[in-house]
Amino acid sequence: MGFSANYHTHTYRCGHATGDAPEYARIAAAGGCRILGFSDHTPLPDGRWPDWRMRLGQLDEYEAAVARARAEQPDLTVLLGMECEYAPEFRAFYEDELFGRRGYDYLIGACHLTELDGAWIGSFDRTCTPQALAAYAATCTKTMEAGLFSFIAHPDLFGCCNPVWTADTAACARDICAASVSTGVPLEINGLGFRKTWLDTPEGLRPPYPWTPFWQVAAEHGVRVVLNSDAHHPQDVLASYDDVAAMRDRFALVEADLSVLTR
Ligand SMILES: [Zn+2]
Ligand SMILES: [Zn+2]
Repeated sequence: MGFSANYHTHTYRCGHATGDAPEYARIAAAGGCRILGFSDHTPLPDGRWPDWRMRLGQLDEYEAAVARARAEQPDLTVLLGMECEYAPEFRAFYEDELFGRRGYDYLIGACHLTELDGAWIGSFDRTCTPQALAAYAATCTKTMEAGLFSFIAHPDLFGCCNPVWTADTAACARDICAASVSTGVPLEINGLGFRKTWLDTPEGLRPPYPWTPFWQVAAEHGVRVVLNSDAHHPQDVLASYDDVAAMRDRFALVEADLSVLTR
């Protein structure tokens, strides 16, 4: 058993991945995958946060590469998407340009950055105070409420900089899970976290994310989940399925129905 669908796939254009869409699609098809969604880190209309995303000028060739992957793998449903930070000033770009003019199939919401007191901080390295955790949950909630995103990537990213589960991390998890249920936006159990360097914490070795207690909270709220590899290398296109599926099964989490994306 492996991924029959993976909606979280990058290409070399983001600057920290390797390979292009056709290589990912070839390996996914050979591995028995049926649906492969490309979701590289989106360019932003004001050129913001350029370190780990493609340039606006690369959109055409990204789309051409995804189209090539689709043409080369007739048995694989290939979807065109992006992984996006949300701020109100980006809405027109996502709505009118990506969905509208360019016909994207879906967008992933991701909160790599957290808005705190009018500034943006790293969600993976700075969400380690009660205020920053609350701000991260608020940023995730705004992203879900935007109504643009099919699911939220690695909502438990704050596991990277919080060694142990506390009342504050629990409150953050509850806020995110409640928003997921009220907005109907599912949360992703992200395979890439399992492939990162594990953290040596007072509670033992663990991946930075997926963070087990977060998914217990998700189960208590009845959150729907999406299982993805978050591939940054072609050979990882279907990686970590057993790990994300084990997290799903441990808490009897129910997968979201994303069939609307392939209609
Ligand atoms: Zn990335
Ligand atoms: Zn990603």
